[in-house]
Amino acid sequence: MQREALLRVGAQQLSIHFSDEQMKQLLRYVDLLQEWNQRMNLTAITDTQEIITKHLLDSLSVTSVQAFSETTRVIDIGTGAGLPGIPLAILYPQVQFTLLDAVRKKITFLEEVKTQLSLQNVHAIHGRAEDYARQLEHREQYDLALSRAVALLPTLVEYALPFVRVGGFFIAYKGETVFQEIEQATPAIALFGGTLDAVHAVRTPTDKLHYLVAIRKISTTPEKYPRKAGKPSKQALLSAARE
Ligand code: SAM
Repeated sequence: MQREALLRVGAQQLSIHFSDEQMKQLLRYVDLLQEWNQRMNLTAITDTQEIITKHLLDSLSVTSVQAFSETTRVIDIGTGAGLPGIPLAILYPQVQFTLLDAVRKKITFLEEVKTQLSLQNVHAIHGRAEDYARQLEHREQYDLALSRAVALLPTLVEYALPFVRVGGFFIAYKGETVFQEIEQATPAIALFGGTLDAVHAVRTPTDKLHYLVAIRKISTTPEKYPRKAGKPSKQALLSAARE
């Protein structure tokens, strides 16, 4: 199937409509991913159809469970080459997206994507989640945190929940280990001020099941979290014992 047709059919399944301009931006993003991937390791998926289904449409699947409005502030933690942030920023040009990654070359790539696609609503920042989450301009400032393929859930909630305002949500894209990860993350979710809201099973256009874990922020994250950079991944908080 032609790449534009594949994108349109997949979008229809997700009840998304793209303008011609948005379609051009998405396809240009695919081109840039493929061009830059020859020089640097941005994504293991290089086939055009797979980039569309496994990256773009998968990223956009969150629209079936989460509403986005002009006032929604979103952070994508460990965005890598811009997933899920870039496809969502193209779909919702009125929504502000902060894309965070610890690897500088990925931020350089995202700056190029911003320029080439004329995206005014993307702010790409370089650094670790644990460090940014301590800064006042980021701490508890987001209505929605998203993260895809970054860490196991007990670690991920320590990265993400400090960014979310009370009343906001963290949504993690997860695969088939989801229920085991949730079980292990239960004490950490509570410790950082969250509660499990829902686990949505989403069928992607590849027909593979994936899950969107929605965690609602119900109380402020204690000041001492997240712990210093590196600690959440080395030693995730798996029990209620506090450090
Ligand atoms: N989210 C993208 C996707 O779905 O393709 C990228 C996934 S990639 C496997 C994981 C990314 O998370 C890497 O680019 C890595 O640099 C970033 N990352 C991991 N831990 C991080 C942290 N503590 N703070 C910021 N970025 C982090």
